[in-house]
Amino acid sequence: MIIDADTHISPTLEWGTSITAEQLIAKMDKIGVDKCLTWIHNPYIRSKLDHSVAYIYESMKKYPDRILGFGWVDPQLGMDHALALTDKCLNAYHLYGIKLNGAVNKFPIDSKEIAYPILEKIAKAGKIAAFHSGCDDVANTHPYKIGKIARDFPEMPVLMIHMGGEAYADASSCAIEMAQEYKNITLIGSQVPKMSVLKAIRVLGAHRVAFGSDTPFALMGAELGGYKAMMEEEGMSGKDQDLVLGGSIAALFDL
Ligand SMILES: [Zn+2]
Repeated sequence: MIIDADTHISPTLEWGTSITAEQLIAKMDKIGVDKCLTWIHNPYIRSKLDHSVAYIYESMKKYPDRILGFGWVDPQLGMDHALALTDKCLNAYHLYGIKLNGAVNKFPIDSKEIAYPILEKIAKAGKIAAFHSGCDDVANTHPYKIGKIARDFPEMPVLMIHMGGEAYADASSCAIEMAQEYKNITLIGSQVPKMSVLKAIRVLGAHRVAFGSDTPFALMGAELGGYKAMMEEEGMSGKDQDLVLGGSIAALFDL
């Protein structure tokens, strides 16, 4: 089973890159991807967030075998709104978890004031927390901050999207260090050099690393092909290849 652990969809045309659920499914069918972890493509008009999140819910309902939907909340729209939307995502929409993006929404993801109240709800519900990580907004999204969160919520599975590699500087060595220390972190290797992914697999084991493309900000087929070529070239076992391409996520999500 091949699972792409980083994809975005949107009900409205956003930023010239967005795709709909139907376009994502068509892409998956063409490339041979079985399931996707899917979050919103952040709306240009920030207050349209609820609409975008509802679209994830509707899309997961429409394609339950293909789309593993996540919520998204923005504390900058006010904590009342963020906490209410968190509840809705977890209890009414039954999404797998919530993604927090401190780069897009401009907040420190380890803030005790505005992030931890959301994380407490995710942890209490037994759901998964996903985080953007990288150097495009290093002060808000550094892997070290995700390590702190994993430490403070040891029972909560944590997905470190981009494994610290987003943007030109690559903080993936810090991401690997945090994942070594906190066993509840899984690294999603999207928007990060293949050599960094390879290092993560070697240091942590294939069961702690997952393929992700970051579609539509990257090309699903080209990324999947790159992963396959990397693992073949390095002579990785079939078992490890299967883990990276979907098995790690399947185990974590109990699929
Ligand atoms: Zn992404």
